[in-house]
Amino acid sequence: MTHQHRYDVIVAGGGPAGSTAATLLAQYGHRVLLLEKGRHPRFHIGESMLPYSEPVIQRLGLDWSEGNVFKSGAVFIDESQEKRMFFQLSGEKRAYQVERSAFDSKLFENARRHGAETRQNCAVKGVDFSAGQVVVDTSDGRVHARYLVDATGRGAMLGRRQRTLEKVKTLGSFALYSHYAPVRGQLAEQLFKSGNIWILMVDIGWIWVIPLAPRRVSIGLVVRGRKPGGVTTETLFHRYVAGSALLSQLLQGARQCWPVKSEANFSFLNRARYGARFISVGDAAGFLDPVFSSGVFLALTGAARAADRIHQGLVDGCEGDPHLHQADDAAHQLGFNTMYAFVERFYQSQLINNVFFEAHRDAQIKQAISELLAGNLWSGDNPWQATLLKGRFRLEGMP
Ligand SMILES: Cc1cc2nc3c(=O)[nH]c(=O)nc-3n(C[C@H](O)[C@H](O)[C@H](O)COP(=O)(O)OP(=O)(O)OC[C@H]3O[C@@H](n4cnc5c(N)ncnc54)[C@H](O)[C@@H]3O)c2cc1C
Repeated sequence: MTHQHRYDVIVAGGGPAGSTAATLLAQYGHRVLLLEKGRHPRFHIGESMLPYSEPVIQRLGLDWSEGNVFKSGAVFIDESQEKRMFFQLSGEKRAYQVERSAFDSKLFENARRHGAETRQNCAVKGVDFSAGQVVVDTSDGRVHARYLVDATGRGAMLGRRQRTLEKVKTLGSFALYSHYAPVRGQLAEQLFKSGNIWILMVDIGWIWVIPLAPRRVSIGLVVRGRKPGGVTTETLFHRYVAGSALLSQLLQGARQCWPVKSEANFSFLNRARYGARFISVGDAAGFLDPVFSSGVFLALTGAARAADRIHQGLVDGCEGDPHLHQADDAAHQLGFNTMYAFVERFYQSQLINNVFFEAHRDAQIKQAISELLAGNLWSGDNPWQATLLKGRFRLEGMP
């Protein structure tokens, strides 16, 4: 039985993962429909990028230096011990700090420019995979395709529907954040010149400091464990910002741009990331605590890998094969699990004190850590990566 498909691929979710998959599939010449339930530009947290995303950005035909702050690297700081360590991340491949509202809009618009049909304010409500096609119910009506990409972010549409999501409880449990502007003064100059992300260690977790153009910084407190009793999230956030001498100096004269926002229970795995006529990419395939800024990087690289394979499947007429993504998924999980092991070590061991702050003692280890923090996860020759993966955690999907 043959079906008349209006589209080859429907992509649900117009964040970085969905827009990337849609653009690349449209570049291959497929008929692509990209559906976004919101409307760009919309706020999104997740502003610090990794250099190994750059090859995907280049494939999309975008210049991400425009309007964004160049990011040299990451500085880990413990004010209570007066310790700090800088890791150089940008090199041949460069990273930027981005305002996600503008960045995500640009990616979405880029998908349209490359030939994908895009719809905003259009939510996917239901999916049916029977009879050799994908039938998608949206807030605008029913559409048909040969393939579905779930890029719905932490909403993880298919994972929730199929009950294949598993919470990770051992990492950060909630984040509180806001933007501050204008930041001026000598410290601000240094921060903007380097474009570094600062990661400040505090007793209940860690704080990110990300410079964003123009003269704006993003500050977020990620808390491990439960919220301390008898205090509002707003008060807790301000207590830790005020408790840092570095932040007090940086933010002198700056105002908070909006009330503190929060995100809770953000880390989860998706045990069924692909199957017959579907794949989940980006956060919908699993999300890790943001301490090493891996989210958008895994979203971009995962979506690109998925798009290449879907293209091949459509050309060969085997897109309905439930094992289509098997080999690629193992590659993606190698990267994901490396980051997972790395983040678990951050929370469960003395990684920062014993390794990061001591990294100046061994240039090779420092380099190996920098490579992982930059997103160089598939070189196969990183001794630190091998050590991480041999750790006590037997992680899913490892060969
Ligand atoms: C506190 C915090 C801090 C973070 N910091 C960083 C960081 O510094 N660096 C970094 O790289 N990452 C960071 N991240 C992670 C990063 O934000 C995500 O990994 C990234 O946004 C994933 O992209 P995505 O396209 O998969 O999902 P999203 O960006 O969430 O996009 C999904 C899109 O799908 C749409 N959608 C959802 N459901 C539907 C539906 N049913 N129909 C149609 N559309 C739908 C949504 O509206 C959304 O636009 C952070 C995350 C958190 C929680």
